[in-house]
Amino acid sequence: MLTFTDNRVVRLFNIQYPIIQGGMVWASGWQLASAVSNAGGLGLIGAGSMYPSVLEEHIRKCRAATTKPFGVNIPLMYPDVPALLEIIIREKVPIVFTSAGNPALYTQTLQSHGIKVVHVVSSSHFARKAAMAGCDAVVAEGFEAGGHNGREETTSLVLTPIVRETVTIPVIAAGGIASGNQMLAAFALGAEGVQVGTRFVCTPEASSHAAFKQAVIEAPEGGTQLMLKKLAPVRLLKNPFFYQVQEAENKGASKEELEQLLGRARAKSGMFEGNLETGELEIGQVSAQIKSIQPAADIVLELLQTFEQTLQQLSASYLAK
Ligand code: NDP
Repeated sequence: MLTFTDNRVVRLFNIQYPIIQGGMVWASGWQLASAVSNAGGLGLIGAGSMYPSVLEEHIRKCRAATTKPFGVNIPLMYPDVPALLEIIIREKVPIVFTSAGNPALYTQTLQSHGIKVVHVVSSSHFARKAAMAGCDAVVAEGFEAGGHNGREETTSLVLTPIVRETVTIPVIAAGGIASGNQMLAAFALGAEGVQVGTRFVCTPEASSHAAFKQAVIEAPEGGTQLMLKKLAPVRLLKNPFFYQVQEAENKGASKEELEQLLGRARAKSGMFEGNLETGELEIGQVSAQIKSIQPAADIVLELLQTFEQTLQQLSASYLAK
């Protein structure tokens, strides 16, 4: 019987299962976050694509839809961070995940309001910084992950144990995790929880456009690539816009030229409005493995069942009777 009572991530967030739904721009609003929290995991509202008033609305709707803990993810490179944090504090959100920025900036302030703070890192260097800033846990996000990503291209298989060795706070593995087998592998590497993003895009509860969800399901192996390293590395699904970026990068485009090519609201156009031609489509490598749209609660259950089955099979195969 699977039990997580001794698990530090479960205790930190006061949840049932150490499965965190990643905060994703244009995908994870209150519907997805509350569905995952109701299923016993931790749902995160992705504030990166929200104006402050929109975030406030999502927090209130999430609270009305679940009595369980939920959190907000804030990418620190996005606009209006102080205003978003003010709302989080005012609305008494219990958990904040910060990413893409310096954890020293806001961790103490949030914690002084009783908020648990987790920072997303792509290297042991940033994990150490997060621990020094007093974060309650870190998400070690590997090269496989969708959206913004580390420059060093360290895979989850390598990053998770390195971060585990570097810090004593709980490590939550992310990047390339869409099944219970992958969750078990992350635990074998020292993670005490997993953050799952891409898999939760393919749910009825995700606010992503239906055309984008379909494109994710159809994505082949090798269908994504890390781009825009001169700006901020981001893993994109290969569509006509991707090839435009690739061509520009092959020709040695400058940061300014890439900024100009990116323009404004590309991510919204692609992932929220379903423009698969000229929009920016951020998704993880593991999209190649996903074949269906399923309710978020079913995904949580499937992760747990496969985790347990594989654990039992491995024990039966390799442990002496
Ligand atoms: P853009 O900067 O292109 O445009 C802003 C988008 O975010 C719009 O779609 C806007 O919605 C929405 N938005 C939500 N909240 C706010 C807010 N508080 N203020 C302004 N706009 C808001 O968006 P991206 O998501 O592509 O990029 C966001 C950040 O990431 C920027 O700082 C950008 O420089 C940086 N970045 C992004 C890269 C990428 O690959 N996307 C690469 C490198 C850097 P609406 O249309 O409804 O106004």
